[in-house]
Amino acid sequence: MEGSETFDVVVIGSGAAGAMAALRAAEHGLKVLIVEKAHKFGGTSATSGGVMWIPNHGLDGDKGDSRESTLEYLGNVTSGPVNPERLHAYVDEAPKMLQFLKNTGVPVFAAAWPDYFPEAGGARADRSVICPTFDGRQLGDQRYPLMREQYNRFKLFNRYAMDLTETFSLMMQQKGWRMTVAKMITRYWTDFSTRRVSHRDRRFTQGAALMGAVYKQVFDRGVELRMNTRLERLSIDDAGRVTGVEVSFFGKPYHIAARHGVVLAAGGFEWNQELRDRFYPVPGLTRHSSTPEDGNRGEALIAAEQIGASVEHTEEGWWIPTMTLPMPKASNFHEIHQAAFDVGRPWSVCVNRNGVRFVDEATGYDSFGQAMVQDHIKTGANMPCWLVFDAKFRAKFSAGGLMPTVHTPDRRVPGDWWDKYVFRAGTIAELAEKIHVPADALGETVRKMNGYAVTGVDPEFGRGGNIYDQFFGDPTVKPNPNLGPIDTAPFYAVAINNGDLGTKGGLRCDGRARVLDQKGQPIAGLYAAGNCSGNPFGNCYPGAGGTIGPAMTFGYVAANDIAERSGNQRG
Ligand SMILES: Cc1cc2nc3c(=O)[nH]c(=O)nc-3n(C[C@H](O)[C@H](O)[C@H](O)COP(=O)(O)OP(=O)(O)OC[C@H]3O[C@@H](n4cnc5c(N)ncnc54)[C@H](O)[C@@H]3O)c2cc1C
Repeated sequence: MEGSETFDVVVIGSGAAGAMAALRAAEHGLKVLIVEKAHKFGGTSATSGGVMWIPNHGLDGDKGDSRESTLEYLGNVTSGPVNPERLHAYVDEAPKMLQFLKNTGVPVFAAAWPDYFPEAGGARADRSVICPTFDGRQLGDQRYPLMREQYNRFKLFNRYAMDLTETFSLMMQQKGWRMTVAKMITRYWTDFSTRRVSHRDRRFTQGAALMGAVYKQVFDRGVELRMNTRLERLSIDDAGRVTGVEVSFFGKPYHIAARHGVVLAAGGFEWNQELRDRFYPVPGLTRHSSTPEDGNRGEALIAAEQIGASVEHTEEGWWIPTMTLPMPKASNFHEIHQAAFDVGRPWSVCVNRNGVRFVDEATGYDSFGQAMVQDHIKTGANMPCWLVFDAKFRAKFSAGGLMPTVHTPDRRVPGDWWDKYVFRAGTIAELAEKIHVPADALGETVRKMNGYAVTGVDPEFGRGGNIYDQFFGDPTVKPNPNLGPIDTAPFYAVAINNGDLGTKGGLRCDGRARVLDQKGQPIAGLYAAGNCSGNPFGNCYPGAGGTIGPAMTFGYVAANDIAERSGNQRG
């Protein structure tokens, strides 16, 4: 192995957790290195929606949130073992992290997004925070094409960046959506100077906007970022204190010493089938994950376990329904399509392979995934389940990667998708036969749903009965925006898998983001944040941004603790 070099802090992973840990540590005056194994930086975070769930944030859109109402909400929606120290640390530190981010010059504002359990006491619709678009070229022309790009569905025609407003406008074909499309395309092609540099739209949106804006601050503070460099092992001294990392660069190993701390921010283990099999009650397949396939394989978790670290909340992913469509020349990342909002639209229903419903389809995507798991444990006939819809749905909405007919009419659907990925039939009974679901059961489910569409009430699961459901319904459909009769041929079905946005559990940490050993004692010099660590909410996804909010908060907390212990704390 080559000789060693020394930094004050070594951060493993360049996603939201790692970027924030590095930014905050550098702000404290520490010499920081980010180690990233991929050939692009930004992690899943850069490909994401970029939403952060930050209760009690105090921004302009905050209409009177408080620590108390946040704790009330979290008390109502979390179940199972949740460490109060972690939960309270999150509630107290998240607003400080956001304020710090804002003070560095990263613009943020509150979005009107309902919490995912809107009927629980303490729920609000102003806790999700987003970052406006960012000019990627501010990172420099060498660096800006090296940030991970978003997946197909987050870009128009896989090229033109869309912000959240544009995404929803197109998704719902709101008034003026054609003009929105024309503007996006024109803006891109008239940006002549950028077209000479890269195909990449300089207009960073959603997760790219957040990560672009954060990385501008990271680079401005002199943090070094090393890509293609993978964490292999942690180094410890005789007292068990973490003193550095062993990494490899294209297979060549070398050592990096960390004077004051190592922050593991290397994401979850969603791409490690062995760890899935070990931790999950129903393992599912790595390829159903919607995160980049070359990233998060639990290597940091394994490295920390090798020196005695413990884990928590590893039984679940951040679930999201996904579907697969074969895309020539595309990676798994682009073949997997999130269907989170599609499954709750009117003129559709989701059934297990017995033809029976199992969930309020319009619920939050994580709750949808939890219901899939529970139903599979009970019936053995879920994972995948089916999204069944009629011609009215098909005309207006996407179903995973199958775009509405205005974009992709049936005649333009590739021939080899039919009856393999997308099923179509003249009657519900024929459709049932094609997808091997009992026809009488599916017929009965559809008959009941059509009745609920008339009354506007779903007595089984309450679909469309709360503001979260309605947020993604169709306001033109009455009396319930999430329920419409499935009665217009042809009828369609696509298989829905239990995909994920990453994993929920990881290294067990305390409220200072210090990794704990099997006895619950902190391992000196070792910190974890983001999906590498156990999240503070246990098995719950409280609201939009519920993974990036904690990731950035505990990255911030870790850097503060390192700075404090090393006597470098500033501000
Ligand atoms: C399409 C999509 C949209 C999403 N939208 C949102 C949203 O709006 N809000 C929200 O809260 N969540 C969202 N999520 C989930 C969210 O993106 C992730 O939970 C979050 O980004 C995780 O952040 P992280 O920093 O822990 O990990 P990541 O961002 O995944 O970063 C981890 C990094 O570590 C690197 N790494 C892994 N192993 C090693 C190793 N051995 N050595 C060195 N580097 C390593 C990886 O390559 C990666 O770059 C979304 C996810 C997807 C896929």
